Amino acid sequence: MAKVPIEVVLVGEKGLADLPAAIALANSEQNEFLFSSASDDLARRLQMRTFEHNKISEFFDQMERIRTEVRGYYPFLIAAIDSELEGSRFGNLFGSHRAEKGIAVLTTSLVPDVIIPTDRMVAYFIYYFARYALSFISPNHRNHDDSRGCVFDRKIDKQDIVKSMRARALCDECRRNLVSGDGMLSASQFSALENLFALAGPNSQ
Ligand SMILES: [Zn+2]
Repeated sequence: MAKVPIEVVLVGEKGLADLPAAIALANSEQNEFLFSSASDDLARRLQMRTFEHNKISEFFDQMERIRTEVRGYYPFLIAAIDSELEGSRFGNLFGSHRAEKGIAVLTTSLVPDVIIPTDRMVAYFIYYFARYALSFISPNHRNHDDSRGCVFDRKIDKQDIVKSMRARALCDECRRNLVSGDGMLSASQFSALENLFALAGPNSQ
């Protein structure tokens, strides 16, 4: 089966130096998803519209517009930025997605050495690559507010992310819904993503 192409758009630089290494490692550990660096054209256009403080809804509107402007086939895009993200309910997010449109964003703002040690940023990136790949394939599956050491924890307390950076990082309810729900996730895609979550674990690198 063809690999699912996911382009990572590098915008900014703070804390993002390990992004290429994360892309390479993510590709070397599974064969279902192909992560690649998006074109400079896409990155430049998004850079122009990325602010110090970004409202998620406006950011995603811009991403959708830019994807239309550049044309070409970009079904799934993850932007990697270094500035602040503000959602409708919570501020200072790690990232967010508009999965039904195939777009997501992660940020390094207030992450390295605040939540994640600088030398574990590769794990942080791979965690979010896998997290958003899951959402792209199963866009109806949502976060839960309570913390279960699961990638679908809402992480209202940002330190909670560390508990879900591990192998088998899905709670039973999420696992059950993802494997039996109405999503398109195949068994091999599921196991590819499990490999990636394991890479984000404390003992993998
Ligand atoms: Zn869960």
